[in-house]
Amino acid sequence: MPSFGPEHLAIPGPSAMPDRVLRAMHRPSPNIYAGELPDMLPGLKRDLKAVARTAGEVAIYIGNGHAAWEAALANTSAPGSRILVPTTGLFGHGWGEMARRMGIETTVLEFGKRAPADPDRIEEALRIDPTIGSVLLVQTDTSTSVLSDVRAIRAAMDAAGSDALLQVDAIACLGVDRLEMDEWGVDVVVTGSQKGLMTPPGVCFVFFGERAAARRAAMDRVSLYWDWTPRAQPEAFWQNFCGTAPTHHLFGLREALDILVHEEGLEAAWARHERLARAVWAASDAWAERGGPALNVAEPACRSRATTTLGLRDAERLRAWCEDRAGITLGIGLGMQTEGAIQRSSPDHFRIGHMGHVNAQTILGTLGAIDAGLKALRMPHGPGALEAASAALAG
Ligand SMILES: *Cc1c(COP(=O)(O)O)cnc(C)c1O
Repeated sequence: MPSFGPEHLAIPGPSAMPDRVLRAMHRPSPNIYAGELPDMLPGLKRDLKAVARTAGEVAIYIGNGHAAWEAALANTSAPGSRILVPTTGLFGHGWGEMARRMGIETTVLEFGKRAPADPDRIEEALRIDPTIGSVLLVQTDTSTSVLSDVRAIRAAMDAAGSDALLQVDAIACLGVDRLEMDEWGVDVVVTGSQKGLMTPPGVCFVFFGERAAARRAAMDRVSLYWDWTPRAQPEAFWQNFCGTAPTHHLFGLREALDILVHEEGLEAAWARHERLARAVWAASDAWAERGGPALNVAEPACRSRATTTLGLRDAERLRAWCEDRAGITLGIGLGMQTEGAIQRSSPDHFRIGHMGHVNAQTILGTLGAIDAGLKALRMPHGPGALEAASAALAG
């Protein structure tokens, strides 16, 4: 039975996109000097800030998540300054490596691949080195699906008497896992368009508060392109993007934010993702009882609602079956076998992306395809996974 019919991309980014977003982009080029596009931008920024829960500023860049990493560092961290990078997977190492290549003195605090960043160890590291200027924290590391406690880490930084900035990578999980930028004392948040925000990859966002703006003002120099100040407070429209606007991305994003902020509502979106993630976890617990796909993160409070990493010997066979026979593409295992920032796929892991434009239909379809694949391939797994998932959705 080859797959025939609709396809679903269940990788943790780019995520599935609503047809409405695609349709909003299917239009002729707009004028970039006057009219709808420039008129739309203030509302777009307002809604982006609502998603990050900040009254601060937002700068938009044409680029992917890596561009947002570089932008945040370029405005806050001069070569020779010191940063602390707690890591819970590949992406923490990636951001740290980006900093190191910019000449920033980077201390990595490794927390492995299955546990969140430990606030006590961060507090201790800040006490030992009071010259640390920023802590770079990945809220959800997409390789391991570990969720760290942003609020607890801020409290630890305060307890250490540190005046370091807390910079959070929410690329995987903005709009999915709860994040309260202002209330939790986060100074910088970076994210991209293609995960929780349901828009094609290609634009990214850096949110920053007053302390981060003061840090920027004290920098000797920031390159014209990366400087967030004119992007956040432009005197002319082109300064929002240091050049031509990402026209069609902005139309797509407008539609996505209408859905997320004005129709569903951010808190309802958090609750939807919570329920869908619980269905994934319930199915996984059932499979794992007899040697099937097993959750990478044991403690539910430390699991992301955006994506789930599972361990399974020969996971590639299952991924191939789901793609060929069921039209569902699962995420490859990433960074689970290797150390550091090297991107290498892990044959004994796979990931389910469940962020953004997903509902009971897509999640049950994904879990059902995995369950059928395990049976077809005679791979070990416990019974009752789909029963457990539907009970979790119903409960
Ligand atoms: C996807 C992702 C990135 C990288 O984003 P790109 O758009 O691929 O550059 C960084 N951090 C996290 C947590 C991610 O999920």
